[in-house]
Amino acid sequence: MLMNKEMFLKALELLSDRIIDSKELLNDLDTQIGDSDHGSNMTRGFTEAKKKIDMVKDKDFSTILKTIAMTLISTVGGASGPLYGTAFLKASMSVKDREVLVGEDFIKIHENVISGIKQRGHAERGHKTMLDAIIPAYEAFKESIEAGEDLKIASQKATDAAKEGMEYTKGIKAIKGRASFLGDRSIGHVDPGATSSFIIINAINDVIKE
Ligand code: ADP
Ligand code: MG
Ligand code: MG
Repeated sequence: MLMNKEMFLKALELLSDRIIDSKELLNDLDTQIGDSDHGSNMTRGFTEAKKKIDMVKDKDFSTILKTIAMTLISTVGGASGPLYGTAFLKASMSVKDREVLVGEDFIKIHENVISGIKQRGHAERGHKTMLDAIIPAYEAFKESIEAGEDLKIASQKATDAAKEGMEYTKGIKAIKGRASFLGDRSIGHVDPGATSSFIIINAINDVIKE
């Protein structure tokens, strides 16, 4: 099992649509511990990204991901704009010259995405951010691929781990981002960025498992 260009484009379209459909949910989560705009920020970015993807869809994986990165950086705003922008930029750098993506490519993408987000936001796992969904997904994915399991199985395990990580953010105190201003009052609410990261991982999985 691998991801070809057609699946790649489908995954990008689906994840954009899912983010746009989740605008209210993400705004509501951000209302609890932030400034109510995470859904609006992400919807603005991915609406524009969808148009740009269509313009570069005949190009290689790296160019397409870089186009999304630039679009997110210039349109999303907030803390999440540069962070997701960096994530897509790091992903683009991980797939140079690739014509299909296999398990090892996704491991590399995860590793570069995580190091990029950490570098930019100085957050670690457990700080109640998007990393609390992405890092568990990476670990479950890598373990599965290294055990010789198929991409479909690894991707499902990554998605389950991302969901668990997202839910885990409800019980912890925010150390980074706007929610950290609330201190202990941030406990009891799921992190909006961990939720958008889960939505993205879940959409990619839905294309892989088809
Ligand atoms: P803002 O907080 O500027 O309004 P958004 O609401 O769009 O930006 O995004 C908030 C999300 O960004 C948080 O829920 C969190 O997951 C993520 N985030 C904030 N700061 C950081 C950081 N330093 N590192 C990683 N993720 C972060
Ligand atoms: Mg916000
Ligand atoms: Mg804001």
